[in-house]
Amino acid sequence: MVDSFYLGFDFGTSGVRAVTVDQNHRFGDMIKIESSNYDHCSHWSEVLWQILSQLPLNIRQNLRAIALSGTSSTVLLCDEMGKPLTNPLWYHDSRGKDTLKYLREFVPQNHLTLSATSSLAKLYWWYGQSIFNQARYFLHQADYLGFLLHGKLGISDYHNALKLGYDVENLIYPPWLKNQPFSHLLPMVKQPGETVATITEDISKKFNINPRCVIKTGTTDSIAAFLASGVTTPGEGVTSLGSTLVLKLLSETKIDDSRYGIYSHRFGNLWLTGGASNTGGAVLKHFFSSQQLEELSADINPNSLVNYHYYPLINKGDRFPINNPELPPKLTPKPNNPTLFLQGILEGIAEIEQKGYQLLQELGANHLTKVYTAGGGSVNEKWQEIRALKLNVPVTKSPYSEACYGVAILAKGN
Ligand code: ADP
Repeated sequence: MVDSFYLGFDFGTSGVRAVTVDQNHRFGDMIKIESSNYDHCSHWSEVLWQILSQLPLNIRQNLRAIALSGTSSTVLLCDEMGKPLTNPLWYHDSRGKDTLKYLREFVPQNHLTLSATSSLAKLYWWYGQSIFNQARYFLHQADYLGFLLHGKLGISDYHNALKLGYDVENLIYPPWLKNQPFSHLLPMVKQPGETVATITEDISKKFNINPRCVIKTGTTDSIAAFLASGVTTPGEGVTSLGSTLVLKLLSETKIDDSRYGIYSHRFGNLWLTGGASNTGGAVLKHFFSSQQLEELSADINPNSLVNYHYYPLINKGDRFPINNPELPPKLTPKPNNPTLFLQGILEGIAEIEQKGYQLLQELGANHLTKVYTAGGGSVNEKWQEIRALKLNVPVTKSPYSEACYGVAILAKGN
């Protein structure tokens, strides 16, 4: 039997990664393109074409589906032909802060779109610019990349559309949004991983791709990383130990609490709840080199906790699980022994993780049963033991934590 392949792309913060999975759930080799000059849509398409041409011919000819993820709230305006009218506004672009006072006139109180970086704030900012009159489509990064492959404009998914104000519970745009003078630009919203169309004839011919290969709706990069972990059972969580600490807990109940930046993504019939703290690997990096992290960690004895109860931050302020912009970092008492100091920080971050999962559960998420770990800190086995002690549930490394694996799984479907 001829193998079938499914291709997932992740357009992340620092570059693009892609991987295929076959019908037997076997992953191929990941293709990585780190891109420093990646802020224009034409660079996105160049990288997309570059990766397609690097795939082995046998895979291209037997591709059944492709899906793509992009950074959440990276958006652009296009004309009626899909030509970008502007450079994209990136996920962290906060120029929308000046629109918040206007948004508050029609957006419900405490709604998650009331943030300077939300897709809605960016759309509203463009609404005040002269280029807006030429715009026919408002697209997220993943929507635009999908369009390059299937040729259909104005289609998004409910992961990307959450921060645009789409009501993921009722699967509609709420009336307060539909009635706005810019609402004709809002994309149609589908389920992530839903087939949009077959690949365009042009692209299929140019890259020798199976002409029956379908292009599916995508997702955001952080949800793709969650999909990569393979978690499907409520009560299981994924902790990302990157520069910051990000928790995601799969739940049967939807929870939202804007005081802590907590909101829920729809995940089929379940909810993906989560929050993000400013603590994390950036603090470790501030005090230790990579080599020191490795060497000192090897000397740590997780059965003898130092219990300094640090709150490791670089600057004052946290949002989750303690919402206090003035919260000072706590990194005392500081022992002379660097191994004990490192252990104190690892324990402190683990205590914040424990408080975070506790808060999600107090707000109604399922009882935590197991935690998978992703991100740069997931390599640290001593930390994993400390975290398992603090969290009181099994903690393991995610077998796959790169977002593109999750997107390949999304492309494959069930
Ligand atoms: P980003 O969020 O920037 O994408 P990564 O997932 O690449 O971050 O993780 C980088 C972080 O991993 C760094 O801030 C670093 O402190 C942390 N890290 C790297 N190696 C180790 C280690 N051995 N133990 C603990 N943390 C580590």
